[in-house]
Amino acid sequence: MLKAKPKAISLVVPVYNEEKAIGRFLNRVQPVLEQTACLLGDDADYEIVFVNDGSQDATASLVAAIAERDNRVKLINLSRNFGKEAALAAGLQHANGDCVIPIDADLQDPPEIIPEMVSKWLAGAQVVNGVRNDRSADHWLKRSTASWFYRLYNRFAEIPIPENVGDFRLLDREVVDTLNEFPECSRVSKDLFSWVGFSSDTVEFRREARSAGTGKWKYWSLWNLAIDGFTASTTVPLRIWTYVGGFFALLSFAYAAYIVIKTLIFGVDTPGYASLITVMLFLGGLNLLSLGILGEYVGRISSEVRRRPLFIVQSKIGF
Ligand code: UDP
Ligand code: MG
Repeated sequence: MLKAKPKAISLVVPVYNEEKAIGRFLNRVQPVLEQTACLLGDDADYEIVFVNDGSQDATASLVAAIAERDNRVKLINLSRNFGKEAALAAGLQHANGDCVIPIDADLQDPPEIIPEMVSKWLAGAQVVNGVRNDRSADHWLKRSTASWFYRLYNRFAEIPIPENVGDFRLLDREVVDTLNEFPECSRVSKDLFSWVGFSSDTVEFRREARSAGTGKWKYWSLWNLAIDGFTASTTVPLRIWTYVGGFFALLSFAYAAYIVIKTLIFGVDTPGYASLITVMLFLGGLNLLSLGILGEYVGRISSEVRRRPLFIVQSKIGF
């Protein structure tokens, strides 16, 4: 099935303090996009939508200056740092292309595979996932925690997410429109991207090292992202406590029966302080843990019912 009239490709680039990376990024991406636009025919075009996620450095003014000169470069300034997920959502809502490709500004996702993605799209795939076949450029701790996360996640989640696929992928207009209608506030793009379905294909690439600047994801925020993704896609952690609670209730019941019978037969012996305190501490710990898990979900409910916007756009250039 060949698409009738593909016209424009949009790149969505969330940027947070990337002044050093922007120039390099555009130098490498623009020739690729020119070349890809040729693939699509004469009237094809592209746009690069930068979403400035509250950078404190010169990122905004740098992109703004380029956007004034080149109408294919666009800029959305968010009013503060909302995080990459929100920045990405802002970009998806503003992108006009027939297909949209979220990409990082640090060139860790090689733009050279974009033509391949686009040709798979032309061949009919509505989602083309970029699969990192080699992540040796990432820190080992990040690689191994990521691999554990995928394993655990895919075991419990209704819809598995493909391992080693980041946000770098091609999304058809229909998919983007669908994603834009999602009202949820705490979002993990990876999770949503695979949840929506549609026909998909993959392109492999090698994850490169950052071109400039430093990684913005601290381990703590990755951990939070993992919890968000997990609680957004499964309620298994809640159900576990029904079983754990049931098991220990049974156990305590049996133990109580044993104590009563023992007391009846042999009378009261030593006051049993050690066993009592152990059981108390253990059950207290379990209680707190299950309360915490409940709290995770309740917290999400409360942030969803507040219905605050995901991001606030302060200004736009090129739209
Ligand atoms: N980013 C963002 N807001 C943030 C953190 C990161 O827009 O709060 C952008 C960042 O500028 C980059 C992309 O998200 O273009 C990926 O960030 P990074 O390279 O730090 O993440 P990693 O490569 O480790 O996934
Ligand atoms: Mg990076």
